[in-house]
Amino acid sequence: MKIGIVGLGLIGGSLGLDMRSHHHTVVGVSRRESTCQKAVTLGCVDQASTDLSLLATAEVVFICTPIGLIIPTMQQLITVLPANTIVTDVGSVKTPIVEAISPLWHNFVGGHPMAGTADSGVEAALSNLFVQKPYVLTPTPTTPNSAVVLLEELLKELSATIYHCTPQEHDRAVSWISHLPVMVSSSLIAACTDEAEPQVLKLAQNLASSGFRDTSRVGGGNPELGVMMAKYNREALLKSLEVYRHNLDELKDLIEQENWTDLAAKLEHTQAVRPNFVQ
Ligand code: NAP
Repeated sequence: MKIGIVGLGLIGGSLGLDMRSHHHTVVGVSRRESTCQKAVTLGCVDQASTDLSLLATAEVVFICTPIGLIIPTMQQLITVLPANTIVTDVGSVKTPIVEAISPLWHNFVGGHPMAGTADSGVEAALSNLFVQKPYVLTPTPTTPNSAVVLLEELLKELSATIYHCTPQEHDRAVSWISHLPVMVSSSLIAACTDEAEPQVLKLAQNLASSGFRDTSRVGGGNPELGVMMAKYNREALLKSLEVYRHNLDELKDLIEQENWTDLAAKLEHTQAVRPNFVQ
């Protein structure tokens, strides 16, 4: 099959590596000529260009640009692709993208691979990035079943675990497990730096170990990604933050009241349910 990829970065490059290893022909488009050359050298694509017309004969096109460019990219692709081309995206938020693109392109299936690293750019592309990772598809009632089936066949080759849901369900779910944790982790780091006593702050910095490393990791990540999550998933994130604040207040009340029995019960509950989210 001939696969097109727009946006040759971590996700686009990784998809290209795997598609090529499954004997598909991959053509890629990126913004910078230097990235196109690197993508060919690294084996992410067979051919690359800064011109979208390279994708005209692709059967399936993955839009892997930064999230804010997915809709504008689709608007440009309309003039280049024949109507039977299947288009999908990999954006981390689905509702605004699916709502904007579905009326523009009949054969569009929203997608989101739940895989990545802290790195970005084509140099960060990895083989087998999607193996046994969730890959969410968000078809709507008007999405052609043939498009979903063909896309699923490709994703199964990557050994991804496929999930279907509505764009709204996707955005609420990722708000809980991805976007809220970034804000919580960021506020944790910010709260620690509010320590008024400089020598206590320095001591805390020296003593910070694996627990702080785990809980601060996502709050210390790429600020641009955090802003994108808040901007494009604002409604769901605000609801999650509200519930989180309520839970934090409950913990604070229990500690103020020295209610160690209820505090223990709450911590026992979170200990018991954590494996439902992560093994
Ligand atoms: P990335 O490594 O920064 O790659 C994006 C690439 O898009 C850049 O390398 C850039 O290449 C290219 N690009 C920028 N503007 C473009 C344009 N106008 N036309 C064509 N290409 C353009 O980012 P990423 O992590 O792969 O993320 C890409 C998408 O995947 C985002 O929508 C994100 O929400 C989604 N996603 C990310 C992760 C993750 O963990 N990173 C996980 C799942 C989904 P140049 O060098 O040519 O500028």
